[in-house]
Amino acid sequence: MKSLSIRQREIMKMISQTESLTIDQIRKTVGISPATAYRETQALVQLGLVSKIPGGISKLEHSVSLCIQCGRDINPRAAFIIEQKDRIRISACCAHCGLMALSHRTDINTAMATDFFYGTMLNARKAWYVLSSEVNLCCHPSVLSFSSKKDADGFVKGFGGSVMDIGTVQNAINKMMEL
Ligand SMILES: [Zn+2]
Ligand SMILES: [Zn+2]
Repeated sequence: MKSLSIRQREIMKMISQTESLTIDQIRKTVGISPATAYRETQALVQLGLVSKIPGGISKLEHSVSLCIQCGRDINPRAAFIIEQKDRIRISACCAHCGLMALSHRTDINTAMATDFFYGTMLNARKAWYVLSSEVNLCCHPSVLSFSSKKDADGFVKGFGGSVMDIGTVQNAINKMMEL
C-alpha cells in the first residue's frame, strides 16, 4: 500500500472541515478531472480513511477517527489501523496505542502500522519497532514502526531507543504503562 499522494492529502484536509464531499466538489477544488477525483477518493476509501457515499465520500464516524486507546486525533504520520474479525476497522493514533489495544484483544483480523521513514502501511506483525527513541511523534514512550530491521537499526544509531519485534515491544510497553 502506498502513502497518501499530495492530492489525497488535500482531499483529507477538505473532508476534515466538512461532513461529506461530492466528486464534483473535489474535482473543482483540487482542479482535477472527475475520473482522477474518483480514483483518488476510491484509494482513500480502500485505506479506510473515509466512507463511500453515493456520488462522493463522507467522513468516518467520529469514534472511528479518534484513537480507540487514548482518544486523540489520528496522526496520519503514525497511524495504526486494526481490522477486527467483523471487518470493522478501528484506528489508533500511533503504534504505542495500537499495540496496547492489540494486546488485550483476540477478535483481530489484521493490523497495520505506518512506516516511519516512508509513510507506507505495513503488516504490524512483521514490522520492527523502535521503543523510547528521542523522536516522539505521538504518545509516550515513543514507538516508531519500520518495515526493515536495517532501517530500524540505522535509526537507533542516530536517535537512540531499542529495536524490538511486536511481541517484545508489546510486553515492554505494557510494563512501562503499569501503574
Ligand atoms: Zn492513542
Ligand atoms: Zn499516540
